[in-house]
Amino acid sequence: MLFDAHTHLNFEKLTDEERRALAAEIEESQLVYIIDVADCVSSAKQALQDSDDYDWCYAAVGIHPDHASVYTDGDIEEIRRLAAHPKAMAIGEIGLDFYYGTDDREEQQELFRKQIRLANELRMPIMIHSRDANQLTMDILMEEGAFSEERKAWFPDRPAPGTMAPGAPGSDMKIPGEYTAAGDEPLRLVPDARVQMHCYSGSPEMAEEYVKLGATISLGGPITFKNGKKAAEAARRTPIEFLLSETDAPYMAPEPLRGRPNKPYYVEHVVRRMAMIKGLSYEETSRILTGNGKHFFDIP
Ligand SMILES: [Zn+2]
Repeated sequence: MLFDAHTHLNFEKLTDEERRALAAEIEESQLVYIIDVADCVSSAKQALQDSDDYDWCYAAVGIHPDHASVYTDGDIEEIRRLAAHPKAMAIGEIGLDFYYGTDDREEQQELFRKQIRLANELRMPIMIHSRDANQLTMDILMEEGAFSEERKAWFPDRPAPGTMAPGAPGSDMKIPGEYTAAGDEPLRLVPDARVQMHCYSGSPEMAEEYVKLGATISLGGPITFKNGKKAAEAARRTPIEFLLSETDAPYMAPEPLRGRPNKPYYVEHVVRRMAMIKGLSYEETSRILTGNGKHFFDIP
């Protein structure tokens, strides 16, 4: 049982035939759900088409910071309209990317702020892309109320750290995503701001800060890389209750497949690494991470 919490089945360079072939491979794999993430209006439409075509596919709709100098306010209105689709589960991916040049930094921040406001207005989860802009990303999220008490009140609470470890109350839940306590003991819960830090690349200390704010740390291929020590340390310090597994396919294939085009079901290698980091079995880890994904994206 595997969950890919950030992937691009809608990837524009795939032909319809290639997309169908990939979907057939997914159906043969251990994947139970994917979140097909948009980076612009046309990719959001394809992601929603994918979610119509496949039961196991849900979508995130939004405009990536790469489009900050070309998007229009009409595009944001279109995202608002697309977000009403029953399988649009989050606004994303949105955020800041200062890796390439500096000329559109103002526009990126404006686009980011507008879409946090949209997610707040629509009361939807937010999926964050942040590259070389760690502190500014956190500052803007805080300024725009992404971690406000008001926002947290819109979403069900999530299991507290330590509660999903084997033997803890609720840890023997039969259906992933349904956090009902076992026996007489009530399951301890904490507030959730439903903010996914996709492919988290900040410091392990900042990951701890995010978790305190109510965010969720989402990790992919880098935790399997030899030079991915920082991401692996973030995984180690983040309670498993606040982690998601992802691929960012077709980018960032995990070891031992690094360098190839990534595929959603390669998330298995990410989960195997997380299991090692957490000292849990692969089965237990995949079950918990699948439950986390179902809970975060409200998958029925
Ligand atoms: Zn992505």
